[in-house]
Amino acid sequence: MVRISEYHRPQTLDGVLALLQRDQSTVPLAGGTDLVPSKAPDAQAVVDLQALGLDQLSVEGFRIHVGAMLPLQRLVESTGVGEFLAGAAHLEGPITHRNAATVGGTIAVGDPHSFLLIALLALDAEVHLRLPDLATLSLDRILDAPRKFLDGGLIIGLTALSPHGAPGTAMAHVARTPRDKPIVAVAVRVTREGDRCGGVRIALAGVADRPIRAYQAEDRLKGQPFDKGLVDLAVAAVLEHLNPPSDFRGSSEYRREMVAVLTRRALLDACGKLA
Ligand SMILES: Cc1cc2nc3c(=O)[nH]c(=O)nc-3n(C[C@H](O)[C@H](O)[C@H](O)COP(=O)(O)OP(=O)(O)OC[C@H]3O[C@@H](n4cnc5c(N)ncnc54)[C@H](O)[C@@H]3O)c2cc1C
Repeated sequence: MVRISEYHRPQTLDGVLALLQRDQSTVPLAGGTDLVPSKAPDAQAVVDLQALGLDQLSVEGFRIHVGAMLPLQRLVESTGVGEFLAGAAHLEGPITHRNAATVGGTIAVGDPHSFLLIALLALDAEVHLRLPDLATLSLDRILDAPRKFLDGGLIIGLTALSPHGAPGTAMAHVARTPRDKPIVAVAVRVTREGDRCGGVRIALAGVADRPIRAYQAEDRLKGQPFDKGLVDLAVAAVLEHLNPPSDFRGSSEYRREMVAVLTRRALLDACGKLA
């Protein structure tokens, strides 16, 4: 358990940022599901974000707007965010976890096995930060260098494509048990322009030290004929530069096999929704 040396609950964002900029042992406290059980060697001063009103959720046309303090369970229960995002939030953990854990905390932790983060990558999520100036960065950029952006800064919310803006989405995964973290998970989004593929997002969990996007495969698929060959091309392109780690959940070879199977499954599912 973390040792807490100070507890603060400011009423304003400026109050939070002033505390966070004191030193590196002062950190934001959201749902506490990761921070509280963590074994940080030094005592932490925590800044509780509950009083800031950052738990809003709205769907406007093509975009979803989410506050950093929104509990994952609210995404599960919302009808407006669509099955793809709600389903990813549901897979993130049991209801006790989802009631406490927040969207902002999930981004800051950047778990390489997160269903929610790959769904958000596929939906082109942009994260709004106070550093203390306002900044908006792609989720992918933050996951690449969280310490660079988050030390002394704060995630305040995100925007992502709504079901209206992203009709062709799907996710597939394999895990040891139905409630376990995935060994591999793949989230995809496909757009169609006539008889061509307008664009593809392919995001993967369980294959690197963070959730990743398969950029080279995405580039390869844009503009290709929207037919059966698209899926074969996608699988080959995703595997081309992939070197997943081996661990107690599965070997690198097994993960590559699963990436091929799951990418195919998710793409067929997503393309079927656009037919
Ligand atoms: C048993 C267990 C299972 C877990 N399983 C999963 C899983 O399957 N998938 C997964 O993704 N994660 C998992 N986690 C990790 C973690 O619980 C989740 O990522 C969770 O969503 C974190 O959210 P929180 O609101 O509880 O964050 P907290 O625990 O409150 O904070 C986590 C970290 O994020 C920072 N932080 C929080 N909010 C902000 C903000 N707005 N701006 C900047 N920094 C912020 C905190 O300072 C802290 O460093 C698990 C943790 C445990 C203990």
